[in-house]
Amino acid sequence: MRAAARGRAWIEISRGALLQNIAALRARLPDGCALMPAVKANAYGHGDLMIVTLLQRSGIRDFCVACAAEGATLREYGVTGEILVLGYTHPDDFPLLAEYQLTQTAVDCAYAKALSRFPAPVRVHLKIDTGMHRLGEAAAHMEEILSLFSLPRLQITGIFTHLSADDTTDAPERTFTHRQAEAFFTVVREIEAHGYSCGKKHLLASYGVLNYPELGGDYARTGIALYGVLSRRSDLAGCPIPLSPVLSLKARVAAVKTLPKGASVGYGLGCVAGTDRTVAVLSVGYADGLPRSLSDGRGGVLVAGQYAPTVGKICMDQTIVDVTGIPVRVGDTAVLIGSSSTREITAYDIAENSGTITNEVLSRLGPRLARIVVP
Ligand SMILES: *Cc1c(COP(=O)(O)O)cnc(C)c1O
Repeated sequence: MRAAARGRAWIEISRGALLQNIAALRARLPDGCALMPAVKANAYGHGDLMIVTLLQRSGIRDFCVACAAEGATLREYGVTGEILVLGYTHPDDFPLLAEYQLTQTAVDCAYAKALSRFPAPVRVHLKIDTGMHRLGEAAAHMEEILSLFSLPRLQITGIFTHLSADDTTDAPERTFTHRQAEAFFTVVREIEAHGYSCGKKHLLASYGVLNYPELGGDYARTGIALYGVLSRRSDLAGCPIPLSPVLSLKARVAAVKTLPKGASVGYGLGCVAGTDRTVAVLSVGYADGLPRSLSDGRGGVLVAGQYAPTVGKICMDQTIVDVTGIPVRVGDTAVLIGSSSTREITAYDIAENSGTITNEVLSRLGPRLARIVVP
């Protein structure tokens, strides 16, 4: 898009924070395990081109995405390493997999057979369901899994599972997680006992690396932790490594006006000034990913180092905040995520105030936001 990068609303990506997170996660990885960052959903809203470029400069070659289109985009950016598509790809899109040399997840055995019938070669990682009951062939279906290895055209270069309760080390979750790992490695051993190679084996995502690094594997499919946050603030208590948030979200003040007592603010007549107020109009809205549920004072921003709560309803492209008593001028910068002088608003604050987790808040930050790297 042709516009000044800091003209309207933008994301700043801290290179330093990202490098610190890479180093902290690498120090925690099991021996022989490489980072295969999850850069799906535009790198959790951070901007995939920028994030992939920075990660590649740190020696990271392989990436996970959710769908074939995201994988194709990464290839077009010049990624030459492995690109694993974690989700389902419809047979109509199999040509994309071959054209862009993507590695497709076999979401179950029937799907693996469908892939094997596609005439062009496509690399495959088998997904094993060990208890999440989302994608993957049931670990108990050993005969069927083994039969895939004699399909003439199927190129199995990896096998993986996903841990569904690894965000805590409490007793029931710990037992469940170890059962998942055991079921996974039983499948691996069985395949190898039949003389086949599984290729790369992997089961850890962010919380796995933090809480269960002893489970090992060749890849760690880290997403959220790489971006310097966890899903919930409460998870930070048990976090064994320092994480630095990579993303800040900022927007320009488009207008400042004084409202007499009794004036209504924004759409509808639900918000009426009880006293004379000064408000600022920010050029960012829910179409940019700011949750509309932060309306009516449930969220706020930092301007001139002070907290200004939302007033009225957040609009698609604009947000009105109460700046009474704060020296704000048109063109000033408002911070929606990040710090301003001594104060900070985090992705945790936004997630908590809008009833979700940081992953959702970040991944919904829209394509209209400019993305800029800062030191
Ligand atoms: C998104 C995803 C990941 C990354 O998860 P984080 O918790 O963000 O590290 C890893 N594996 C699979 C299968 C995923 O879908």
